[in-house]
Amino acid sequence: MGAIHKLDAAVINKIAAGEIIIQPANALKEMLENSIDAEASMIDVVVKDGGLKLLQITDNGSGINKEDLGLLCERFATSKLAKFEDLESIATYGFRGEALASILHISRVSVITKTKDTQLAYKAFYTGGKMVGPNFKALAPVEPKPIAGKDGTQIIVEDLFYNLPSRAKSLKSKSEEYSKIVDVIGRYAIHSAGVGITCKKFGDSNHVIATRPNLPIKERIRSIFGTDVASELIEFDVEANEALGLVKANGAITSPNYGSKKKAQPVFFINHRLVTCDPLKRAINSAYQIFLPKGNHPFVYLSLEINPKNVDVNIHPTKREVRFLHEEEIIEHISGAIHTKLSDVDTSRKFKTQT
Ligand code: ADP
Ligand code: MG
Repeated sequence: MGAIHKLDAAVINKIAAGEIIIQPANALKEMLENSIDAEASMIDVVVKDGGLKLLQITDNGSGINKEDLGLLCERFATSKLAKFEDLESIATYGFRGEALASILHISRVSVITKTKDTQLAYKAFYTGGKMVGPNFKALAPVEPKPIAGKDGTQIIVEDLFYNLPSRAKSLKSKSEEYSKIVDVIGRYAIHSAGVGITCKKFGDSNHVIATRPNLPIKERIRSIFGTDVASELIEFDVEANEALGLVKANGAITSPNYGSKKKAQPVFFINHRLVTCDPLKRAINSAYQIFLPKGNHPFVYLSLEINPKNVDVNIHPTKREVRFLHEEEIIEHISGAIHTKLSDVDTSRKFKTQT
């Protein structure tokens, strides 16, 4: 008998899930994106024990059809093929239908959801990657239970990583995991113009984040990063460049009058997904260098829309890093525009102090 044997499906799914969901903030980000994709205008998040005990996210979006509730546990099941017609943009936006299935494999999840086409909402329970009976009791799959409820979806994730103890152990403290969650939510709250987002700790009455839909960008930034940042903001658009595949670029950055002692990750969105992009970050930092005293850091929010054909989000399972075509030229184009903006402000500032 040979020595090589195939791992069984449950093990494969658990391993794959653990690569996509490394920390509670990854799960939260995926669910937040799903609510935004479902065109929610309000999203409320409740967190307990850094997201390990509870991650609850409630939206007023499109809801999930009752017939589809069984499919949520299947990897590579997505409803977004119809919405984003061509396969290429599916791939580049990372619609792999993998996120929610992954979460369902490594936690206990209940989903309550209602579309506008039905009178009642439906509630389904999942654990170990399977739909199970009410309150996770019966292991045989049962029909989702009809209950009263509002349009939209509520996903309650409990005991994340309960069956991946090594992953649970590798995490930072609960308060650090909580900070990462709040950080991700704050960034989406800044970027998502038509969406109000709230976040609080389980049992608290106060929200750490609370934005209303349709607040102007400056007010959204004020509510997350405070008045010091908001009062020194320069909003700008960068010229599109078809040849480079740069469809749109805009953002809000602080003027040279603002400097934080703390180094913060810039808020970058590419095609409406929160990403990191170190080359872009370095270029912007060096554009600031001549305007800011040493040890001072700006606030930077930047949203790029790049031809989906040119973007690769799948270089990392968590989809956090991206690569895109003409990267150097686009970065040059944007940091150049930022440099010009900063010099304009700087000149008018000097001019003012002289007269
Ligand atoms: P993807 O977003 O790549 O399609 P996910 O695993 O994140 O894959 O989600 C699977 C499917 O579940 C989605 O395509 C969508 O149909 C449905 N879904 C998940 N969350 C929501 C939600 N909050 N509102 C409506 N539908 C949702
Ligand atoms: Mg998704």
